[in-house]
Amino acid sequence: MKITRIIAYPVWIGIRNQLLVKVETDSGIHGWGESGLSGREQAVAGAVAHYAKFLTGRDPMLAGALWQEMYRSQYFEGGRVLTAAISAIDIALYDIKGKALGVPVHQLLGGKQRDRIPTFATTHAAPGPEMIEQAKLLMAHGWTCMRLSPHDHENKTTYEPRESIPVTAKWCVKAREELGDAVVLGIDYHHRLSVAEAASFCQKMPRGTLDFLEEPIRDETPAAYAALRRMTDIPFAIGEEFASKWQFLPYIEQDLHQFNRIDICNVGGFTEAMKVAGWSEAHYVDLMPHNPLGPICTAATVHFSAAVANFSWLEVRTTPTEAHLGFDNSAYFPTQIRLDGAEYPVPDSPGLGVEVDEDRVKAESFKFWEAPHLRRHDGSYTNW
Ligand SMILES: [Mg+2]
Repeated sequence: MKITRIIAYPVWIGIRNQLLVKVETDSGIHGWGESGLSGREQAVAGAVAHYAKFLTGRDPMLAGALWQEMYRSQYFEGGRVLTAAISAIDIALYDIKGKALGVPVHQLLGGKQRDRIPTFATTHAAPGPEMIEQAKLLMAHGWTCMRLSPHDHENKTTYEPRESIPVTAKWCVKAREELGDAVVLGIDYHHRLSVAEAASFCQKMPRGTLDFLEEPIRDETPAAYAALRRMTDIPFAIGEEFASKWQFLPYIEQDLHQFNRIDICNVGGFTEAMKVAGWSEAHYVDLMPHNPLGPICTAATVHFSAAVANFSWLEVRTTPTEAHLGFDNSAYFPTQIRLDGAEYPVPDSPGLGVEVDEDRVKAESFKFWEAPHLRRHDGSYTNW
């Protein structure tokens, strides 16, 4: 079997751009992948087009060797754009291999270790009574783990950490009081705090309020997480933007994080994700995968989640509290893995188990979208 064509589709589907990648072969089997570098899809599509030049004619069954070739052969190894492109191609190669062998992808990864994949949900409302109502709604629908959202400014162009922290902490405490001890509660601070700000936030809540704190600070300096760890004992959930095993290296080996938010569409596909999973297992770090994209990402992450021992919850964004994200994409993905209650069933059909209507995808085009460029009151820029 030989690769005959690789094509990237950076297209707006419903509520966002998605970067889908199709790999075709001379056997008639094709595979689909998705890339996760949201907001920079065209840069990734350029990298995919470049890789297509030397992958055409190659054996699609050799995902491990092709991964090494894509990562290492340009001398300037790695980087988020390149590993996002490699991720999509690698996922498509596993889809092809599964279809060629007539087995679901999780069998290629060692076989499923669970039949259903538990998920965690997110409350969409700002800290306040509605946030707690949303949490109760999620619990009524079967979720036992959920993520709260921090206080944001209404204008969506300003972000002032010291105004967010006390409001958010107060409502986290109220949420714990009202929701009880059984539910697993966390919050995602989206890299918006400094070490001191994150410490203040943690110290404003009694112990046991939160079960995980997601991305309180940026990740470029692992030592900063070590410093924050000395100021709080809330487990950290981080890693969704990590773009290789080497970015995970200090976090895993120094036991800096307790939940691994690995993103299979950014880290380097199945080939790289399985290595990070095994390494995390050795440090008793559970996987809590990032899954904010479309049905290809979800399917890939479900297969990955099924095949690893060390797993907690998979992110899901199609819940009753995020109805605003609930665009019906069935026309584009007529076959996909759908949520059953608060869990994903593990599919047994060959490959990823997703069908794409390529003509529908082709009919869409890329729409320029840029994340908000947030500023503080003094005019300086801060993270979105
Ligand atoms: Mg996050």
